[in-house]
Amino acid sequence: MLVIDNNHKKSASKVAAGMYNPIVFKHITKGYNADKYSPYLGSFYKRLENLLNTKVDYPINILRFFKTIEQQNDFFSKTEEEGFSQYLVSESKSEVNNLPIKNEIGFGEVTKTGWVNTIDLLNKYREFLLSEELLLNKKMDFEKLEFNDEKVTYNGLTADKVIFCEGAFMKENPYFKYLPLVPTKGELFTIKAKDLEVDKILNKGFFCLPLGDNLFRVGATFDRKDLTYSPTDEGKQDLRERIESLITCDYEIVNHQAGIRPTVSDRRPLVGVHFKYENLGLFNGLGTKGVLIAPWLANHFADFLEGKSEIAPEYNLQRVKKGR
Ligand SMILES: Cc1cc2nc3c(=O)[nH]c(=O)nc-3n(C[C@H](O)[C@H](O)[C@H](O)COP(=O)(O)OP(=O)(O)OC[C@H]3O[C@@H](n4cnc5c(N)ncnc54)[C@H](O)[C@@H]3O)c2cc1C
Repeated sequence: MLVIDNNHKKSASKVAAGMYNPIVFKHITKGYNADKYSPYLGSFYKRLENLLNTKVDYPINILRFFKTIEQQNDFFSKTEEEGFSQYLVSESKSEVNNLPIKNEIGFGEVTKTGWVNTIDLLNKYREFLLSEELLLNKKMDFEKLEFNDEKVTYNGLTADKVIFCEGAFMKENPYFKYLPLVPTKGELFTIKAKDLEVDKILNKGFFCLPLGDNLFRVGATFDRKDLTYSPTDEGKQDLRERIESLITCDYEIVNHQAGIRPTVSDRRPLVGVHFKYENLGLFNGLGTKGVLIAPWLANHFADFLEGKSEIAPEYNLQRVKKGR
């Protein structure tokens, strides 16, 4: 195996907050296949932590602050429902009364949630690959790629397959750019709020994720029109309004970043091999939930590549027929 990666400084994984949450808050439903992804995640990141000798997974609960009575009713009516009780805490013991938080309608607590420090994970994994001489720190030049039914060659290297994992940069890939990736820009803040002493993720239609030392990541916005990597004044205003709808204490903006999520029109990942060239593969379309989905899906794809099973049709890129 060899990884070719040019370490783009604005890759989605370097900007992401890295949260995982099996629950979709809008109507308190479970995210697609969340019951499959969620149990797989802890052991996967634990194995990586052991391999890289570093901590990357921070399991912490989310406190969901309600904006309406309907939201509150929806949440608590689900806490006893089969399939939800393992995620929704029926009686939260979290104390928020002394916190500088606007808590007009109450909150519910969600468990089996947390965040992965994707920046530490990437840095350490790159170090590991370099030490094993498994990383080529270069942009792939598609002109140099040659392949037939048996093998792929690139710059003097030979392989059975090339698997492209390019996130939103897939739009530059001549073999897969026909796929319906509709990237979404996201902006987020890192703030310092000295008086906000909380060790849970706060959510009120956006998130406020504690990093320690009174630093928090706050986000994120969604924009399909502006696909530049620059943070904007509109994004700043939006994030300010959101955080001020939740906290009442002073805060300082330490950082304002933007990135592009590899989202897909039908909201499902794009995994599989090219419709014409079987030794060109793709692992993409992780959208807004790469941290939750990637561990299970990578295993699923590896099983396919080893001839053990088929790719489930909803993930298989072969579902896309148009535009080839
Ligand atoms: C603001 C924001 C907040 C987010 N928050 C969360 C969150 O809380 N939880 C969550 O799960 N997800 C979140 N996401 C989504 C998450 O970032 C993505 O699902 C995930 O990072 C996608 O990973 P990826 O490896 O497919 O793409 P990327 O992280 O973009 O990686 C692509 C890699 O491919 C390399 N590459 C591309 N083309 C080439 C080439 N030709 N040659 C060599 N290398 C190449 C790039 O350098 C890069 O390293 C967020 C995204 C954004 C933008």
